[in-house]
Amino acid sequence: ATPTAVMVATGKGASLGVLIKGGNALEKAHKVKAIVFDKTGTLTVGKPEVVNVVLFSSVSMGDFCDVAIAAEANSQHPIAKAFLEYARKLRQKIESNNQSNNQHLMEAKDFEVHPGTGVSGKVGDKIVLVGNKRLMQTYNVTFGAEVEGYISENEQLARTCVLVAIDGKIAGAFAVTDPVKPEAEHVISYLRSMGISSIMVTGDNWATATAIEKEVGIEKVIAETDPMGKADRIKELQMKGLTVAMVGDGINDSPALVAADVGMAIGAGTDVAIEAADVVLIKSNLEDVVTAIDLSRKTISRIW
Ligand code: ADP
Ligand code: MG
Repeated sequence: ATPTAVMVATGKGASLGVLIKGGNALEKAHKVKAIVFDKTGTLTVGKPEVVNVVLFSSVSMGDFCDVAIAAEANSQHPIAKAFLEYARKLRQKIESNNQSNNQHLMEAKDFEVHPGTGVSGKVGDKIVLVGNKRLMQTYNVTFGAEVEGYISENEQLARTCVLVAIDGKIAGAFAVTDPVKPEAEHVISYLRSMGISSIMVTGDNWATATAIEKEVGIEKVIAETDPMGKADRIKELQMKGLTVAMVGDGINDSPALVAADVGMAIGAGTDVAIEAADVVLIKSNLEDVVTAIDLSRKTISRIW
């Protein structure tokens, strides 16, 4: 494409809320044959909400909340934010019922983020883990049929389950729901009509991912993937000779955004993802994936 065409397309893109960082993305986007989508915050709204909390031990709901709040307090993950909002309200309700004046604010020591699995820390003298099954397996925390039943029941409803372990035992769990974006399904089917296949890669579990896959009608899903795994999936597609785009919003998506021929970041996403991407979808609307490809097509065929 001529420098003028690139300039025109970049300006046009900006006015449409599609920020294109340079000519390279414009040269490649029209050739894209496969698009890899992240799940949370990309295909889904990314504002999860807690739908239920259960206890699996003799711990009181108040103490359970205090401990889990302390463990999640320093996490930036959307699930952590959802839990904090829900649990702090619940905690207040319990407090006003008991008419107690106990000071419950606790802080976690040795706080650690485990990307794609959860968080850990020490609350008081207790070791606390908040995260998925894989996090529990890493710490050799086992669980029985009751916990398994709770997990599969919620996952079939496309919810994500988060387990809370205190001193090596599952104390309780909560489930979050994160609805898919209203435009997701028709964007995927429109892309298919353009000869572009869509794949979802996520750090979330297989059951939840499969439920979302059905909802949006995406061709393929790869779940329980860590950040490097996401980038590897992109490279595999490229080895088949395909030009590949990646659409993501999280820190965990940045290696894949860099690996892709065209990396597209959701505008509402993290700074790290926005920096790693070639294109930023300012409105966070998936329809602009098509807008970006269309801008590229017009630039190459010199429609303007
Ligand atoms: P995605 O690839 O869908 O954006 P992530 O890689 O960010 O998802 O997270 C994968 C999974 O790890 C989540 O579904 C959740 O089960 C668990 N997880 C990650 N961080 C946290 C946290 N702070 N609290 C609870 N669970 C977490
Ligand atoms: Mg995400």
